[in-house]
Amino acid sequence: MTLPALFIGHGSPMNAIVENPYAPVWRALGERLPRPEKILAISAHWETSGLAATAMSRPRTIHDFYGFPQPLFDMQYAAPGDPGLATRVGELLAPEPVAADQEWGLDHGTWSVLHHLYPEADIPVVQFGLDLSLPPQTHLAIGKALSPLRDEGVLILASGNVVHNLRAMRREGDAPPYPWAERFDAAIRAGVEAQDDAVLTGYEAQGEDARLSVPRAEHYLPLLYPMGARRPGETVEVLTPTIDLASISMTSYVIGAPERPL
Ligand code: ZN
Repeated sequence: MTLPALFIGHGSPMNAIVENPYAPVWRALGERLPRPEKILAISAHWETSGLAATAMSRPRTIHDFYGFPQPLFDMQYAAPGDPGLATRVGELLAPEPVAADQEWGLDHGTWSVLHHLYPEADIPVVQFGLDLSLPPQTHLAIGKALSPLRDEGVLILASGNVVHNLRAMRREGDAPPYPWAERFDAAIRAGVEAQDDAVLTGYEAQGEDARLSVPRAEHYLPLLYPMGARRPGETVEVLTPTIDLASISMTSYVIGAPERPL
């Protein structure tokens, strides 16, 4: 069986603990997907120099944010690690070296989503680092190289946001999305639906819309991992296609999902 590959727009860390429109969708997704044996997570929040995968057997829960309520700092996601999966990632990406990391753990890009997808925290998780010095094409190529994992019981879970501009963010709950955010999100969605990887790696061609939507690439680039791991003609399902806080796209993609139950 081939497992799906996911890109989840994670948005605010608060989505981990407050009821919001996304949490029920993530919970339902976890219940609906075939249960993975292991998870390889690519988070916007772990930037590395060179390739790296967490290789400890007990990854810590990292609270990599400031100014949030205490309950968020109290959150623990005590999933085990899987040094064997880290080794397997290294095999698939050889001859490029993949550092066996012993320092990181699970950051909130990973656990704020997994807390809803797999609340029992009983599936081993390995995080893969994001090297922002690599061009988009290389991130896509790494995703492709990791695609065999999908046939080995591994769920590829990327966590970021297609549109992520914190400086433009508006906290009023009813703030309408910026037109540039809607246009960029729609352009990328069209690229995903057409399985046109050149649109995804060439996102900067969207000009000012791209500059405003992707002021830094760390929340966008995780998208390229499941898209690289996608097989020709494989289905995509779009979840929560909304813009939160005017400038954060929550649009999420499920590659190769089983049919939605009636
Ligand atoms: Zn984030």
